[in-house]
Amino acid sequence: MTKYVRDPVQPRRAVPTAEPAVLKLPFWGLSATIAAAFRNDAALTLMARRLILWFNVIAPVAAILLLQQGRPWWWAVLCVMAAHSVWLFATLVPSCSWWGPVMLRLPTTEKKVWITIDDGPHPQDTPALLALLAAHRAKAAFFIIGERAERYPQLVRDILDGGHEVGDHTYHHPAHWFWFLGRGGMYREITKGAGILRRIAPELKLRWFRAPAGMRNHHAHPVLDEAGLRLVGWSVRGRDGVVQDKSRIVTRLKRGIRPGAIILMHEGRADLSGERLAPQVLGELLEFLKSEGYEAVLP
Ligand SMILES: [Zn+2]
Repeated sequence: MTKYVRDPVQPRRAVPTAEPAVLKLPFWGLSATIAAAFRNDAALTLMARRLILWFNVIAPVAAILLLQQGRPWWWAVLCVMAAHSVWLFATLVPSCSWWGPVMLRLPTTEKKVWITIDDGPHPQDTPALLALLAAHRAKAAFFIIGERAERYPQLVRDILDGGHEVGDHTYHHPAHWFWFLGRGGMYREITKGAGILRRIAPELKLRWFRAPAGMRNHHAHPVLDEAGLRLVGWSVRGRDGVVQDKSRIVTRLKRGIRPGAIILMHEGRADLSGERLAPQVLGELLEFLKSEGYEAVLP
């Protein structure tokens, strides 16, 4: 299969590129699926997605055939369970790229990191975070929940005016069932969230999406491709969505800082004494990055 790319001189004309290397692999379907988990290659992940979905279609049929042939019943159960396990793994493991490419780090060996802050905007946290970032001349991306953006549109504007980036984090943030949504539900969550951001800031070139809790199923990537968005994961997190102890969160974050790290934080939480958590964490993180010679940049 010949792959086409846009001609940079004449963008309307497509020019063929070399054959994707993946097609030359022996046992290419299986090899590609395994390789796709580790390499964020679009051709590999597309193949992995198709293979896993076919496996889930074929497995129940194979189970019935096994039963008809008089095989032990648990052969059939194992067959179906194997297919479902692969589907669940690809869906529930945020860094797995079997359904499609996930950005897990910045492509750099320099001391640069990308700070990403989810679940805002928040009337108390967002202004405090913006002030800290400005004081440290650091940039960050805020992954915004659509219905919160509707409530606090000025905060979204303030983020952009500060030179930061915003990304789509769905409209309702259905953390417990986003990964289980059908194509229609996923399309509505992603495009409604993106639509509100584009309405608040018509000049915005929205590029990024993060799934609630990082979990998404096989419908997500075709919808994201259609919406022109790329899925962003993370390489380090302090579990500030569940942990309220600032020191534990910061220690975890510090341990994971490497060149190109994508740092995951959340706003809208309080610490054990009821104080705002995110500004405390970001303040310590920025001090640490400065002391280690790191720069917080946007991709
Ligand atoms: Zn979230």
